[in-house]
Amino acid sequence: MKITFMGTGTSHGIPVVNCKCPCCTSKDPKDTRYRCSIKVESSNGDIVVVDTGPEFRLQALKYGLPHLDAALFTHSHADHIHGLDDLRMFAHVHADPSKNTKPLNIYASRHTNHDIRNRFDYVFKRTQFGGGKPALNLIDCNSFSPKRPIKIGSLSVIPVPMMHGKIPTTGWIFNEGKTSFAYLTDCNYIPHSSIELVKDCQTVVIDALRKKAHSTHFNFEQAVDIIKGLNGKNFYFTHLCHEETNSQVLEIIEELKKKAGIPFDVNIQTSYDGLILNL
Ligand SMILES: [Zn+2]
Ligand SMILES: [Zn+2]
Repeated sequence: MKITFMGTGTSHGIPVVNCKCPCCTSKDPKDTRYRCSIKVESSNGDIVVVDTGPEFRLQALKYGLPHLDAALFTHSHADHIHGLDDLRMFAHVHADPSKNTKPLNIYASRHTNHDIRNRFDYVFKRTQFGGGKPALNLIDCNSFSPKRPIKIGSLSVIPVPMMHGKIPTTGWIFNEGKTSFAYLTDCNYIPHSSIELVKDCQTVVIDALRKKAHSTHFNFEQAVDIIKGLNGKNFYFTHLCHEETNSQVLEIIEELKKKAGIPFDVNIQTSYDGLILNL
């Protein structure tokens, strides 16, 4: 399984427009972050993306997306779905309705699918053909579970219910053979039943916004606390803010690891745009 981080920044992206802070003016390429999205490729070449934020088209051009087998969504905030229209490159509604397009499967919670339908209403209206719009098949991910995973080629995919402030959000576990990977962005609470799902994943990506507390995201310390309760060996922070530079975050992680008594062989790092994990 191969993971490509196509975006790792918080909702405004980094640099923030007009901001002159050390992070936004940093020369370190790791301090430039698109909105959060990952590409997951199975060993058989199946490809899925998690979220299509405002830079989805740029991400697809930069990191390559020769085809797409499904798109998964975490929740409906703008920074995660506002590039959805560009999915038309992978499943396009034909101007001639007699030509069948195989729609792209979209997996999201009922709540998120409802918002997608409202925000992109033209996509789902039968009246409009031509002009280009994506052919999407919205599927409620919460009817799937570890006993009945979503099958996408050789990937088995399981939704992980979490909370993002007052709204529900979905984390995702990807299994292929003995490899397990979890992607848990945009959350500040993970219920016990969901912790049980991700407990034994070898590699986990987790929301860690900044040092200071926040009402809808884990801060660094809270993310490390969650990591302490898991059995994996490799962890990556995502959805990072501009309040600390990437190198400052790495220093803070080392302090927090010591404070929490996390063993040396447990690896906690920042993710950054363009990071590739071959799992
Ligand atoms: Zn977000
Ligand atoms: Zn800034």
